Amino acid sequence: MAKPIILAVDDDATVLDAIERDLRQHYRADYRVMKAGSGAEGLDAAKELAARNTPVALFLVDQRMPGMSGIEMLGEVMKLHPGSRRVLLTAYADTDVAIAGINSIGLDHYLMKPWDPPELRLYPVLDDLLSEWRARMRPSFEGIRVLGSQWSPESFAVKEFLSGNRIPYEWVDLDLDGTARALAVSLTGDLTRLPVVLFPDGTHLVAPTSGELAAKAGLQTQAQRPFYDVIIIGGGPAGLANAVYAASEGLRTVLVEQHAPGGQAGTSSLIENYLGFPAGVTGADLAQRATAQARRFGAELLSGQRAVALRREDPYRVVVLADGTELTAYCVVIATGMSARTLDIPGAAPLQGIGVYYGVAMTEAARYRARDVCVVGGANSAGQGALFLSRYARRVTMLVRATGLESSMSSYLIGRIRSAPNIEVVCGVDLEAVHGTGAMEGVVVKVAESGALRTIPAEAMFIFIGVQPHTEAFAGVLERDEAGFVLTGSDLPQEHGRPRGWPLERAPFMFETSIPGVFAAGDVRGGSNRRVAAAVGEGSAAIYSVHRYLRTV
Ligand SMILES: Cc1cc2nc3c(=O)[nH]c(=O)nc-3n(C[C@H](O)[C@H](O)[C@H](O)COP(=O)(O)OP(=O)(O)OC[C@H]3O[C@@H](n4cnc5c(N)ncnc54)[C@H](O)[C@@H]3O)c2cc1C
Repeated sequence: MAKPIILAVDDDATVLDAIERDLRQHYRADYRVMKAGSGAEGLDAAKELAARNTPVALFLVDQRMPGMSGIEMLGEVMKLHPGSRRVLLTAYADTDVAIAGINSIGLDHYLMKPWDPPELRLYPVLDDLLSEWRARMRPSFEGIRVLGSQWSPESFAVKEFLSGNRIPYEWVDLDLDGTARALAVSLTGDLTRLPVVLFPDGTHLVAPTSGELAAKAGLQTQAQRPFYDVIIIGGGPAGLANAVYAASEGLRTVLVEQHAPGGQAGTSSLIENYLGFPAGVTGADLAQRATAQARRFGAELLSGQRAVALRREDPYRVVVLADGTELTAYCVVIATGMSARTLDIPGAAPLQGIGVYYGVAMTEAARYRARDVCVVGGANSAGQGALFLSRYARRVTMLVRATGLESSMSSYLIGRIRSAPNIEVVCGVDLEAVHGTGAMEGVVVKVAESGALRTIPAEAMFIFIGVQPHTEAFAGVLERDEAGFVLTGSDLPQEHGRPRGWPLERAPFMFETSIPGVFAAGDVRGGSNRRVAAAVGEGSAAIYSVHRYLRTV
């Protein structure tokens, strides 16, 4: 652990040198003695130390300094280092100011200048103060600190990124920690953008992107080679399986992941149906094992990098990343998966996971026993969700945009919903806002026909408005189905008995998209099975097709 600091501040260079010399002589074994030549300089040093989370045991500050007096400076630093001891160096004429400072800024002591001999007039006082400080001091965390709010989705995203990439960090809730709040304000001016991420080298980032965070946290973000056999986009089970099989079979392989390896599976608390794990395996564990395995075989894994475009420059395939970098290879495998479609209305994001859920969230259903909940959506998944929840909840209100369920739900489900005494179906409504701070209280809907607003009290909302594949980067480049999933092999739309626009004599290989040499595997592929094992299977099998393709270039 770094030594705690004693910071001496005086505008008179000769006096400052003398204080520094005396302090070093007595305290150097246990403390690092620092000095500053003005109040402003001292305050900057205090800010930087707070940003590094380096504890300051003692401030020893001259009162009479131009620009900022000792009392003024100590008043500011106590917001950043409330536990430190504060001593003012005064001339006789400043005694009144010093006494007033005991009340106003909690000054611990004042010392008259000169303090010779220090053995009698300096060290005994400071020894006492420092031993008091040591008794109360708690060891400080020396890694990355995230200063944010639990109501800020960006704070949640940063925590997810760090934990997904297994980077240790300390979470500091600014709503509960006034000192951290003062530090965040002193570094950024205000708290409009959160979180503030502090690094052990004293630097900080405000609301960083995954790429900025990855680079700063020391993850690999840039490719090491100018050229690869295969670029894999997406580090979920399919992409990681791609990487393991490609690298282990000798291909020059790079995988690009926008967040953390593991994908959707990485967020699962227990995967129980994956072969070989009779007691189940957590998504995080599976992701970590697969990542280590891929790296062991020599695959490069770029974290915090998002693919934004794909280009064909025969015989090469070029992938453009969000930071403008371009990667070139013979082949590309798209394994970008999908995610639940999210509801973008005021109040929804802060309550996600604490009242607002995507999907049925079976583990949460029992929490709402005998309470009122809503289900959003009118398809079969929403109907099944409502029936499941009706076993627990007092009342389930289904909120449906269409004027009826008939066009989107199977009739057997409609019949069961109608006969459930505690399910009410409200059709023809659009969601406007979610109410509640810390817990959901209700949802505001707009009746499409009249435009009237209606508030429906509910303690939870389960949203079933479909899934979306991550394929925006490939729109207009590859054949996709109506929902945006990438089409491959025999699923490619046919024209005159051949895949539309297909340039080669041979038929597309398994998992090959409408561009030769570009493959898709896992949930992102139209018609995939949307399971971990299926994604892993497709990921490994797609590499077989990659080998076949490489024989042709
Ligand atoms: C909460 C939850 C629990 C689940 N539990 C189970 C279970 O118990 N059993 C089971 O079999 N299945 C389960 N599933 C389904 C399973 O997780 C998925 O089928 C599987 O993860 C799909 O893998 P994938 O690699 O195809 O895609 P994903 O897991 O979706 O991974 C895709 C990856 O690509 C990245 N990416 C996307 N776009 C880009 C881009 N442009 N640039 C760079 N990277 C990009 C994403 O960040 C993501 O990491 C669960 C899913 C969820 C959400």
